[in-house]
Amino acid sequence: MSRCPHCDRELPGFQTLCDDCYEKRRVEIEKPRSLIQTLQHFVANPLAITDQDVMDIRRMPAWFVVCCSCGGLLLCWFGGWVKANGQYAPISDVVLHGTLLCFVISLVLSLAVARRNLHVYWKAASQAFFLWSMGISGNFWIGSHGLRILKW
Ligand SMILES: [Zn+2]
Repeated sequence: MSRCPHCDRELPGFQTLCDDCYEKRRVEIEKPRSLIQTLQHFVANPLAITDQDVMDIRRMPAWFVVCCSCGGLLLCWFGGWVKANGQYAPISDVVLHGTLLCFVISLVLSLAVARRNLHVYWKAASQAFFLWSMGISGNFWIGSHGLRILKW
């Protein structure tokens, strides 16, 4: 006599799943998630962070988090500098304004994705911050260079 691998119930004959588990499986497969459910899952956990991921995030070394944060800040500053077309001093109001803008956008986007429900994973957020600031400063770069091409 074999047993159902899901609920440990004894199985008659050569069945590999009991009727209950088979039925549950069938319903899960046949009923795809509705759009609203998918959306809810996305809003609650945008990166689909699993428990395994949380363990990995906790194991992330501190130096890596510091590097991501500092790298992100540097990228923000670079974003501010290219946004000003590189025509201002590296530490001028115009550049710092662009830096702040890049920083705020990156930070908000990072906190928006690196979480499950309302729990933010700071270490993951630092990584996300680095990637977002890269994207946004890149965007600033394209923006300023695009404008320069238009001026020609
Ligand atoms: Zn079963």
